[in-house]
Amino acid sequence: EAASIEAAPAMPKGKKRIGIMTSGGDAPGMNGAVRAVVRTTIAMGCESYGIYEGYEGLVQGGDMIKQMFWEDVRGWLSEGGTLIGTARCMSFMQRPGRLQAAKNMITRGIDALIICGGDGSLTGADKFRDEWPSLVAELVERKELTAEQVEPFKHLNIVGLVGSIDNDMSSTDATIGCYSSLQRICQAVDFIDATAFSHQRAFVIEVMGRHCGWLALMAGVSTGADFVFLPEKPPAENWEEDMCMIVKKHRELGKRKTIVIVAEGAHDLELQKISPTKVKDLLSKKLGLDTRITTLGHVQRGGTACAYDRMLSTLQGVEAVKAVLDAKPDTPSPIIAIIENKIVRKPLLEAVKLTNEVADAIAAKDFARAMSLRDAEFAEYHAAYMITTQTDNSKTLLPPEKRMRVGIIHVGAPAGGMNATTRAAVAYCLSRGHTPVALHNGFPGLCRHHDDEPVGSVREVQWLDAENWASKGGSEIGTNRGLPSEDIEKTAWCFEHYKIDALFLVGGFEAFTSLSELRKARRDFDAFKIPMVILPATVSNNVPGTEYSIGSDTCLNALIDYCDAIKQSASASRRRVFVVETQGGASGYVATIAGLSIGALAVYIPEEGISLKMLAADIEHLKKSFAKDKGQTRAGKIILRNEKASKTYTTEIIANMIREESGGRFESRFAVPGHVQQGGTPSPMDRVRAVRFGVKSLQHLETYAGKSKDEIAADPMSASVIGIRGAKVKFSPMERIEKEETDWKDRRPKDEFWMELKDTVDTLSGRPRADQWP
Ligand code: ATP
Repeated sequence: EAASIEAAPAMPKGKKRIGIMTSGGDAPGMNGAVRAVVRTTIAMGCESYGIYEGYEGLVQGGDMIKQMFWEDVRGWLSEGGTLIGTARCMSFMQRPGRLQAAKNMITRGIDALIICGGDGSLTGADKFRDEWPSLVAELVERKELTAEQVEPFKHLNIVGLVGSIDNDMSSTDATIGCYSSLQRICQAVDFIDATAFSHQRAFVIEVMGRHCGWLALMAGVSTGADFVFLPEKPPAENWEEDMCMIVKKHRELGKRKTIVIVAEGAHDLELQKISPTKVKDLLSKKLGLDTRITTLGHVQRGGTACAYDRMLSTLQGVEAVKAVLDAKPDTPSPIIAIIENKIVRKPLLEAVKLTNEVADAIAAKDFARAMSLRDAEFAEYHAAYMITTQTDNSKTLLPPEKRMRVGIIHVGAPAGGMNATTRAAVAYCLSRGHTPVALHNGFPGLCRHHDDEPVGSVREVQWLDAENWASKGGSEIGTNRGLPSEDIEKTAWCFEHYKIDALFLVGGFEAFTSLSELRKARRDFDAFKIPMVILPATVSNNVPGTEYSIGSDTCLNALIDYCDAIKQSASASRRRVFVVETQGGASGYVATIAGLSIGALAVYIPEEGISLKMLAADIEHLKKSFAKDKGQTRAGKIILRNEKASKTYTTEIIANMIREESGGRFESRFAVPGHVQQGGTPSPMDRVRAVRFGVKSLQHLETYAGKSKDEIAADPMSASVIGIRGAKVKFSPMERIEKEETDWKDRRPKDEFWMELKDTVDTLSGRPRADQWP
């Protein structure tokens, strides 16, 4: 009987049939992961199989396991939820279910499985892998399959992608979906903020997270909430009074609204639930505040993925396929993780174990351990949050001789997160006894004089001034492109006149240049022998010394929203391609990452330039791609062109060339989103990182408090840039970055980390490589 089951023909050596499934709760970005897995699998010469409805599809087999082709996943990046479905599957929890699943896999010839899901799904996956040899043996024993049939399937290869909105998995900084969910939450809180302000109301907002307070904490950091309740860090014993005291103090300082964020799983030190109702009662009864509760619920799962989740899911999907192909029989199953900006493989079992330990530690009331099991980032965010909301500095003040006047200045174009970082810097200064001084409107603003009298707007910032800046776009203290070199003497004079002891610069390449000028001018002016840090903030993400600038995520989100909208228009009229011009100066970062996040057909960047051959090959590719569309929805096509990719081949000319060459078979248009790319409200990622890096920058400046000018000038780290470099957040000395890492002519880093991602964009859109050009 066994022989009657037809087995799939063997794959060529080294090639595999790789199954992809989504399981557990849906999360935005799952579709991006499936698309990347399917296309990378195919590009590697393997076969891809979609397993529908999670483990249910694996157990039931038949139509629920479908071979997936290139065109099947077109446009999936812009879709929310999971298009291959997900389910909670009871039968897979039992061995008979898993036995059936094993049989289905073997008969379909599938020898590797990539699973995108939460800790439950990944635990199930590893159990399945562990049990596999015994399942196979049982299938032969029961004569359901023959020994020859199972021969090529000795080992099961499993790779996990962590898809979950809670960000509750240990070993990775972010899960696929968590930033989209955070975006949804912050949007809601921003809306509520406006009404709370108008009526001077208090709102208690409940967000998801049973054992994990990531969403609650990050929402608190990015919206400037007054108090947050997290499961792994319960409030102190007398939290009722604490909370009321903080809220009361904020009100006394002039705050018109109160926002308290409660994680679903919040409790006190004794594990007694802290419910939104309990919090509401306190606020209304003890403080007399008009208080409302908002439970966000399923909107948090919601909708399309943000730019970061599209990028993350895509890059991790690609890495998952590579991990499958690299695996040896004895390689432990990995999950694909991200640490700061680096995609890495981590052991699945260990990650699941650590994750479970958090829940165990919470149950055992060992909260210090629960916090230590979370990523280091979590504790840093928590500390930053506490600094920005506490108004009682009696325990944190420095001795008077260590207190500084810290100048804060914005340079260049506005970027999302500039205000959030300023707010954090101000709060940090106040908590330590420093005086935060806003230098309004950049260096020209600082140097403004009238009849030799300084009229520069230089102002000490009070807590309340900065309090509302958490979620504001633009630059509240004003920004300007002017450099210190426009009048370096006056700049030095102003530094002395206003007694600036430390400088926090926020901005893009102009800010970077400014810091370089100030550092060099230390030779002639003692005024600049002070500690100085730049936090890169620019949509272009072209500042040397970091792989990420605040504002660049906001820009990418604005750009993908824009592209999604025109893509829809393009696909409604079926045969149309849009050529979209992106900002970024001479850096192709924005174009490339946006291309990765929307699935652009081609991306033109200054680093590569544009040639006739390249255009000819791309137009050929376009023709083929249109020819394959058989009335599909989601068929809109986009080409991205950075504003400086070529002097000759402008965005309009490329669009015209495409139209001309299409022979009437399809249409072509161009679009220039321009300043839309600076974004309106900054993205939560830019906001939270702005807060974290702002606090870190101030802590760094503070290490120089009380040191002599010469001591400061002799230390290369006293003029530095803060940034993400691979898996670390670091300060790097300007002196070295200026000299070794900066391409001054093109205003970008010499070595751009993201260049290797360009290949991924091209591979996933099936774009012809240079060696395939006509
Ligand atoms: P979320 O984080 O959204 O809750 P999850 O992946 O943790 O996602 P679960 O409901 O825990 O979601 O698991 C999804 C499915 O994975 C289950 O319905 C079941 O089919 C399978 N599964 C979970 N745990 C196991 C296990 N220990 N053994 C076998 N299968 C499991």
